[in-house]
Amino acid sequence: MKLKNTLQILLLFPFFMNAQDWDGLPVPAEANNSNYVWELVDELSDSFNYETPSGSNKGATFNTNWEDGYINPWPGFGNTTWTPNNSRVTNGNLELKATSKNTAQNTNYFSAAHARTTIIYPVYIETNVKIMNAVMANAVWMLSTNSKEEIDIVEAYGSSFSESSNSSKEWFARRMHLSHHTFSSSGADYQPTDPGSYYLIPEEDGKYWRAGFHRVGVYWRDPFHLEYYIDGELVRTVSGASIIDPNEHLNGNGLSSPETIIFSGAAQQWQVNNGVYPTVNELSVESNNIFQIDWIRTYKRFDLLSTNTPKSKASKVLQFSNPVGRYITIKYDAQIKNIKIFNINGSLVKRIDSIPQNQRTIFMDDLRSGIYIIKVVDQKGMQYQEKIIKP
Ligand code: CA
Repeated sequence: MKLKNTLQILLLFPFFMNAQDWDGLPVPAEANNSNYVWELVDELSDSFNYETPSGSNKGATFNTNWEDGYINPWPGFGNTTWTPNNSRVTNGNLELKATSKNTAQNTNYFSAAHARTTIIYPVYIETNVKIMNAVMANAVWMLSTNSKEEIDIVEAYGSSFSESSNSSKEWFARRMHLSHHTFSSSGADYQPTDPGSYYLIPEEDGKYWRAGFHRVGVYWRDPFHLEYYIDGELVRTVSGASIIDPNEHLNGNGLSSPETIIFSGAAQQWQVNNGVYPTVNELSVESNNIFQIDWIRTYKRFDLLSTNTPKSKASKVLQFSNPVGRYITIKYDAQIKNIKIFNINGSLVKRIDSIPQNQRTIFMDDLRSGIYIIKVVDQKGMQYQEKIIKP
């Protein structure tokens, strides 16, 4: 009976169901630029706080945003074959697991999943992950549809030792690869090779990345500027054509195509070529072979200065003074699809969908005093936005 009441309350107040793991964690990028706010992209954000089975049908909650497999029919990198059977959402995490495939050939199964929608700069993407204690790559990354532009968010190799090559991997176990790639039409691969592209774990964070969960974020500011954030701190900036795409693989346009977020693990070809792959013995310890993704969040940057342009004025379709009063009045002839109000940190505080034709007012009294962004989308897809002050 008590459970039923709790469920009823949850259903009555969907607000509680929107709680996310990253609540209270500010977006670290552009923290000092008051002209920018961040708007969460729901389709590319997930706390993974639900349960799914392994296999090709993980249910509606997962399937709404994500799809099993790679962005094309590619079966897997190096010694790895991806299968939906080796991933699931459980215990608050998306889990990708490696298991042995062919013991004689030292091949393995692993898993990949990708977003159903693409994203383009300016955008901040951050994920909280626990790296495996294994030689294989743990990766959360982005790739353009034509596979010519790649931005890596997480790329790490967690194990300190490789049985297959009988060699220390201590160097990798203590570093996070913060990189991107550009590919030419003929397949030439460029990525930065400066020492800063492998970020050494700070002493205060322990000895190995695999020891705990860490937040890794990328701010894709523009085609020639990337910033990397670990646990909320800026740790690397790459800026300018000379480091983004010195060989002009992208014809001088930089990282300018929409990209798809991908989660994957693999014994990569360059590792296999060096005799490094997980042995049957290493794969037999399940807990060492699960890449855990606690959450991922994606924010589009929202430029307050752009509200000066007439077409972005929300007051064109709504009637209000600034500071706003108790109500905002709708004065637009066309159907309004939705109205969203964000606080100055970019968090959604009010959302009104499916506004009836005869509804002419929006109640504002329930907002606390402060500065907000109001964003209106009409049925034709036109967007209007404006800064508002609630006294
Ligand atoms: Ca979670």
